[in-house]
Amino acid sequence: MDIYSVVRNMRIREGIKRTRINLGRGVKESLDKHGYLKKYSDEVKKAKLEVAKNFNYWIKKTMEKLEESGATVYFAKDAEEARKIAGEIVKSGKTIVKAKSMISEEIELREYLEKLGNEVWETDLGELIIQLAKDKPMHVIAPALHYTKEEAAKVLKKIGVDGRDPEELVRKVRQVMREKFIDADVGISGCNAVSAESGRIFLVENEGNIRLSTSLPKTCVALISIDKILPDDILALKAVLVQSAFLGTYPPSYINVNLPIDDQDFFVIFIDNGRSKTKFREQLACVKCGRCQLECPVFQLAGNVWGGRVYGGPMGMVWSAILGEMREEVFICTLCGKCRIVCPMDIDMPQMIREIRKAILGFSQI
Ligand code: SF4
Repeated sequence: MDIYSVVRNMRIREGIKRTRINLGRGVKESLDKHGYLKKYSDEVKKAKLEVAKNFNYWIKKTMEKLEESGATVYFAKDAEEARKIAGEIVKSGKTIVKAKSMISEEIELREYLEKLGNEVWETDLGELIIQLAKDKPMHVIAPALHYTKEEAAKVLKKIGVDGRDPEELVRKVRQVMREKFIDADVGISGCNAVSAESGRIFLVENEGNIRLSTSLPKTCVALISIDKILPDDILALKAVLVQSAFLGTYPPSYINVNLPIDDQDFFVIFIDNGRSKTKFREQLACVKCGRCQLECPVFQLAGNVWGGRVYGGPMGMVWSAILGEMREEVFICTLCGKCRIVCPMDIDMPQMIREIRKAILGFSQI
């Protein structure tokens, strides 16, 4: 879809508005009630930027801890290398259950593994709808926010799920997915935060699917972008609490703290993909809560078409530049600064957007 058809699409606009109001209420309530969350945000930002100053040291330390715990650990400098490593681990003919993960979208892992002859199941309900509809996630945390319940029901018929009301659909999808979890050869997850102190991988969720994807299959693969490293367990925990609070779902239903279990074959792929070399260091403090997307006036009209191939909205513009994509749509930004005001990490996206504009016009380099 191009940007003009999205702007004219009231269904997308309504979906964004509904999500913004509902989640925004949740954010306000948690911040009013739990004053410590703002303090956690500041601590997490400081720690993430410290890690970004010396990635080599922190990556090495985290990799060693994971190896000590029994994981097989890899480092991928870019998306292609990450896909290749994952492909060599998984091979072909496997059933894979996959947790929602933006880094896997970034490296286009699902499509790659399917081409190798594997059956890949997204286990997050919104992400499953996006997979079945061959669509792109609209929002970093709420991928299918632009689907009405009727549209979702139509899409889910593709896997034999028939129902009218959301409760019935969820119950039936759960039945289908339960079999997939039990049959799966491989589970794939991303990572919301990883502790360099212990190697523990923190994953936050509300559906319980990540827990099953990372504990039932004999083989598990965790994808970790290097900006997810935090110096210790407490800071990693604070990072997932901040993400959950600023998404509007605090406290989260489940926080998983993963290391290899029993006789599991546990693989970890650290992925750089432009992060260690970027000029936009401050963006590496992002916890991907998606608040800036929902509050951005341009995103409210244009959705994820305004942004980059993977990430939409103001954070998407900057993340795209980190990944090596320069989008001329960056000139549509109004520079209103709302993204920075609502960002738990106080990331100065308007300034970085100005820098991207200058680079596109040839006045500077990124
Ligand atoms: S830039 Fe800030 S508001 Fe936007 S997703 Fe990242 S942490 Fe959240």
